[in-house]
Amino acid sequence: MNIPQTSAPRVVIVGGGFAGLAAARGLEEQELQVVLIDKHNYHTFQPLLYQVATGGLEPDSIAFPLRKRFNDVENFYFRLAEVVKVDSESNKLETTIGCIEYDILILATGSTTNFFDNTNVQKYSMEMKSVPQALNIRSLVLENFEEALLESNLEKRLALMNFVIVGGGPTGVELAGALAEMKKGILPKDYPDLDIRQMKINLIQSSGELLKGMSSKASKKAEDFLRKLGVDVWKNLRVLDYDGETVMTNGEDHFKTQTVIWAAGVKGALIDGMHVDCILERPCRVKVDKYSRVDGYDNIYAVGDVACMKTESYEYGHPMMAQPAIQQGRLVAKNVIAELKGNAQKEFIYKDRGSMATIGRNKAVVDLPKWKFQGVFAWFVWMFVHLFSLIGFRNKVIVFMNWVYNYIRFDRETRLIIRPYKRKNKYSFNKEHV
Ligand SMILES: Cc1cc2nc3c(=O)[nH]c(=O)nc-3n(C[C@H](O)[C@H](O)[C@H](O)COP(=O)(O)OP(=O)(O)OC[C@H]3O[C@@H](n4cnc5c(N)ncnc54)[C@H](O)[C@@H]3O)c2cc1C
Repeated sequence: MNIPQTSAPRVVIVGGGFAGLAAARGLEEQELQVVLIDKHNYHTFQPLLYQVATGGLEPDSIAFPLRKRFNDVENFYFRLAEVVKVDSESNKLETTIGCIEYDILILATGSTTNFFDNTNVQKYSMEMKSVPQALNIRSLVLENFEEALLESNLEKRLALMNFVIVGGGPTGVELAGALAEMKKGILPKDYPDLDIRQMKINLIQSSGELLKGMSSKASKKAEDFLRKLGVDVWKNLRVLDYDGETVMTNGEDHFKTQTVIWAAGVKGALIDGMHVDCILERPCRVKVDKYSRVDGYDNIYAVGDVACMKTESYEYGHPMMAQPAIQQGRLVAKNVIAELKGNAQKEFIYKDRGSMATIGRNKAVVDLPKWKFQGVFAWFVWMFVHLFSLIGFRNKVIVFMNWVYNYIRFDRETRLIIRPYKRKNKYSFNKEHV
């Protein structure tokens, strides 16, 4: 890997997301060698992926080059690689570019989509955890309309214009709202020769309320906003299967569609080699103690989405959100330094700063610890918080400019099919019917 051996202890961090980045920052200017490994050479600001998927933002504006952040940091090394195995007996990681030894390992690999072992759903539906996946959705949505335009068979045209989003959490809600806004303001202008009223956006949620985890007021208001935007919200409905043509549910309603976006579950992005006792089946994350140390290991820590720290208030671990990841990343850096200096470590106490979701223009819901509000003001708060949280000055400026432009012009400029998506569905409609 071309990393020099020094007398300084080597801390290897796997993952440059919110948690890994916070940990790496906290380890700057210490007598340590820090190695950050990520399979992407950039940090992804996941909360805005849905805007990339719906043509509202360019992908580059929500990604930040990891090397740039650490340009001036001494004893810091970044390697672009996927870690495939932890060999804890010999304190070694196996990666796609070779092996590396560690003195201390921090796992910050985040999460992946949970399809709950449904191979059909996994094969045919779209996920949105990364920039390439958001771009796939953007391409597919636009390709659907290009195909629908040429499709003379009504049933097939409707299937191309029928969108099913599974999962009524923030990702599903935000995506459904953004698609509804495209339907209202953009698609009728882009496709004047297609009856866009035939487009349907279905949001399916297995429980009785959207945005589980937020207040019931936020949940009800979000549903109200979505329905007003023309989204069909299906509650208490569970998706059982999707064969690339029809979404089968446990109810009487089934959906003929060419596009299913799966936002119904996440699980920790685990790495092979860890002993089984530290992997929790539910919620499929690595079990850590209150210092973020992985159960059964002295020199391995885990932070962020991949880690499950059970506490009295958080029976299944902290929410898989940016704030717990950042706060755990910061504290683990302090705890690693404390350990190396022989000092006492600090317990993690989560400071809940609240949660929020946007449904569309002037429509958002915000739950702060002491104040809950919805509507236009909530939307501005949502924008401010997300803009402020983005990494990199350039990204902040570009996103801000895009938002101002989109707001004034009622537009989403980046509706481009740069990299066509090859659908995996059973057959391609337009070949038969052009
Ligand atoms: C669409 C979407 C919307 C969201 N919206 C919100 C929101 O509004 N508010 C909020 O608080 N949270 C939101 N979240 C959740 C939030 O983004 C995550 O909780 C947060 O990113 C977790 O941080 P992390 O550092 O644990 O993982 P991540 O940020 O996912 O980072 C993990 C990193 O590890 C790397 N990696 C993984 N496996 C390997 C490997 N084997 N080898 C090398 N590198 C690896 C990945 O490339 C990635 O860079 C959203 C998530 C998604 C997907």
